Amino acid sequence: MIKRCFGCGAILQSDDEHKSGYVQAIKEDKETFCKRCFRLKNYNELPKILATKEDYERVVDNVLEKNGLVVLIVDLFDFSGSFIPQMINKLRPKNVILVANKYDLLPKSTNVSNIVKWLTYMCNRIFFKVDAIHVVSSSKGYYIDDLMNTIDLLRSGKDVYFVGCANVGKSSLINALLKRFTPTTKNLVSTSVIPGTTLDIIKIPFFEDNKALVDTPGLINSNGILDKLLPQSYDKILPFKEIKPITYQIIKENSVFVSGLVCVSLIEGENVAFTCYFSDKLVIHRTKNEKVQELFNTQLGKLLTPPTIEEIDIVKYDTKEYVINAKTKQDIVFS
Ligand code: GDP
Repeated sequence: MIKRCFGCGAILQSDDEHKSGYVQAIKEDKETFCKRCFRLKNYNELPKILATKEDYERVVDNVLEKNGLVVLIVDLFDFSGSFIPQMINKLRPKNVILVANKYDLLPKSTNVSNIVKWLTYMCNRIFFKVDAIHVVSSSKGYYIDDLMNTIDLLRSGKDVYFVGCANVGKSSLINALLKRFTPTTKNLVSTSVIPGTTLDIIKIPFFEDNKALVDTPGLINSNGILDKLLPQSYDKILPFKEIKPITYQIIKENSVFVSGLVCVSLIEGENVAFTCYFSDKLVIHRTKNEKVQELFNTQLGKLLTPPTIEEIDIVKYDTKEYVINAKTKQDIVFS
């Protein structure tokens, strides 16, 4: 018999922790809350829910139909992987606050107003009009109050929908807002179902006028490195503290491995300075171009990990050549 979560109405299941309706064990005789509603109710915390592409389309379409303010969250550390056209195009008719999360990862010298200028430029480039741009750190709580002020200003008595790709920090941001602004959560966290959806959306009553923060599932970026690996490697790839850029000189016919994920080789031209902005848990290893293949064959999953031994067979590699103009700085971004 199908059993539904008493909080959000999702069909209960015990197979996948990242999908809606997850519980460790389904008890027949009891009012059961899924893990997400249980944690929300008891700890003021929302575990993340992932969506397939089709689910995602449906969820975004559903959000569009509602008369609400949208908070679109992107990851400052993976902007191109989280600012995706598929989502942007759908959000064009809405009132949108663009929130760039994980500010704490950038070097301390990074100026917030420069980031906002750059984000404005990136939005203008694709004619995407947003009502406000905020730079925050959900995990450190930086600039959360400023964001809340803007939400209050722009909400006009409506619900607020949080959308974004998986891993941009959507759950962390909602959790940060809940923890900061709803100290007595127990009164608030009766969750409710939005009619007409298959319950991947969760409404959290939050505002004094009974309007809600609405959590939506995160789309997995299928072009990103994370999607090519198993969750066991995520903690190595995702940085958790301020990135310390490290500069290496790559001389002619030399290469730099970034664990077993990336290898950058200077094939032709003058020596270049190569500044790495990666998680400190990734290993940077320099070698000669002629040794690359041998190192790759013998050390993948060992010195060059991630990928781990278990992941070697699922990772696919690609080769790209770039011509770099020595007079300008250029970025290579691995989503
Ligand atoms: P979601 O999939 O969008 O809901 O993302 P999560 O909230 O689960 O966060 C994904 C990962 O990013 C987790 O490892 C978080 O700890 C981390 N994270 C979230 N927000 C921040 C932040 O502001 N700074 C840093 N450094 N990490 C963050």
